[in-house]
This record gives sequence, structure tokens and C-alpha cells, in this order.
Amino acid sequence: MNSSSLVVERIEAGAFGHWLAQAQAALRGRGGMDVPCGECVGCCTSNYSILLRPVDAALDIVPASVLSSVPGMHYPHAKMNPRSDGSCPMFSSGRCAIYAQRPQTCLDYDCRVFAAAGMQAGDDKPVINRRIRAWVFNYENAAAQRAHQAIQSAARFIRQHADAFPHGWVPRTPAGIAVLALKVHEVFLEQSRMPDCIADQITAIVQASQRFDAV
Ligand code: SF4
Repeated sequence: MNSSSLVVERIEAGAFGHWLAQAQAALRGRGGMDVPCGECVGCCTSNYSILLRPVDAALDIVPASVLSSVPGMHYPHAKMNPRSDGSCPMFSSGRCAIYAQRPQTCLDYDCRVFAAAGMQAGDDKPVINRRIRAWVFNYENAAAQRAHQAIQSAARFIRQHADAFPHGWVPRTPAGIAVLALKVHEVFLEQSRMPDCIADQITAIVQASQRFDAV
């Protein structure tokens, strides 16, 4: 093993409290994320199906041949499935061919949510996983650090007790779990106020999620 293989890449992810407020607003449809992607094209090459919504201008320019229907959603909701090599059908010559009109799904994607939740993006997403390991947040204050710890505790709990939640309630994808952990982390902010039994903890988490979505 040479010394260069021991070098761990570090990329500034920004101030955690600021990132969290921005991510919460984005989840409520009030703004997008400003991700310092640099040269990374991980999300365009990592086996994601990209949802197109009626508001997306991309619907008018993406060839119909790469669109398919979305189970449970009506047209003009559609999705672009990845090519066999995992790349998006709009990824060409190392870049997005419709960058100016890329869908909201792409504008919202921020792999720092995995770093926030202490998770990887999935075994089929090595490029994104490498980026997740490299992200380093800084903390404006103790509250921001506590919030980060609470999101990681929430993600751990949800994965550990997924089968104890109501059927179908826990998302199946790592991205879904990371987002859910962000939404319900308030439950884990003060461990001393956490209910004793698992069933009550799960009830508190479900209620926190409902509160988040209601705002
Ligand atoms: S539409 Fe563009 S930005 Fe979105 S995944 Fe495809 S190539 Fe990437």
C-alpha cells in the first residue's frame, strides 16, 4: 500500500445549520439546493430513475423514447430510466445535455443528505459513496452539531426498527430513509425526553413526520 492510497479526500460541505435549514425548505418546496458539485457527475451516472413532473420544461425536450410511466402517477408525470451503464439518457460527453432545463428532481438532489444521516447511497452508487465520505460539515454552534447527531440517530433507529413501523411506511431506498431521518430528527434531539418503549418511539417519529409535512 503506498502512502497516496491512505489520503482521504475532504470536501467542504458548508455549515451544517445553514445546510439543514436550506434542505428543510427544499423538502417543503420552498427553494432548491446549492450543491458544490465541482466536477462530480455522480448523480447522473449512478443508476437513478429521474422523475419528471408537469412543471418540468424537460418534458418537452426529452425524447419520448426514453420516458416511461410512473406507477401510481398520471401523465405528464414520467420518468427517465438509466442506461445499462447506469448513466442518465440525457448524460452525454461527460455532461448533462439539457442542463439549463434539467428536471427539478436533479435540482433538488443533494448527496450531502447521506453525509448528514451517516449513510451510504447504496451498493450500486460507488461514485456518490466516495463523495459522501469526502463531505465534511462545519458547525456554527452546538445546536447545529446536536442536530447532525440527532439526524444520524434517527437514521440508525429507522433502519434498525424498519419492520416495527406501519407496513410500507419506511422508504425502501437509502435516499428516502436519509430524508425521513432529516424530517423526524427533532425526536432524537433530547434523548432524555425520548419515550421508553420502541412502540412509543415509533409513534413519536410518525407524528414528527406528519408535523413536518403539514408545515
Ligand atoms: S437530466 Fe441531466 S442533471 Fe439530471 S440526471 Fe440526467 S444528465 Fe444528470
